[in-house]
Amino acid sequence: MAADDIFCKIVAAELPSTKVYEDDDVLAFRDLHPAAPTHILVIPKEHLTSLWEAKEDQAQLLGTLMLRARDVAREQGLEEDGFRLVINNGAGAGQTVFHLHLHIIGGRSLAWPPG
Ligand code: 5GP
Repeated sequence: MAADDIFCKIVAAELPSTKVYEDDDVLAFRDLHPAAPTHILVIPKEHLTSLWEAKEDQAQLLGTLMLRARDVAREQGLEEDGFRLVINNGAGAGQTVFHLHLHIIGGRSLAWPPG
């Protein structure tokens, strides 16, 4: 059953988004408030609040999210300069939308450690 977070609503097309990739399990769309020239969110269509709730039998889905993020980053032209893949896991780490998502961030220089 779908949860009531904004990303579930984007999956259900109840809210608009600028999609860049979609398959049966994964959706990728542009962040509404981009932190870089390329800022794309990759989410499981199935509701998963955060990594804390992930079960062992979702390991394949978690791996698939990373591979699709890699493919989207390549398709967006980030292969040469690279990209950052971020999961803010929990409110204390900056998570504001409680539906697991990977941030693809690229298109500018990225310092490490981040600010
Ligand atoms: P978090 O802080 O949870 O790691 O990241 C949530 C991200 O979702 C933020 O970068 C924020 O800009 C983005 N965001 C919040 N609401 C929406 C929305 O309605 N549409 C899109 N495309 N992005 C959103």
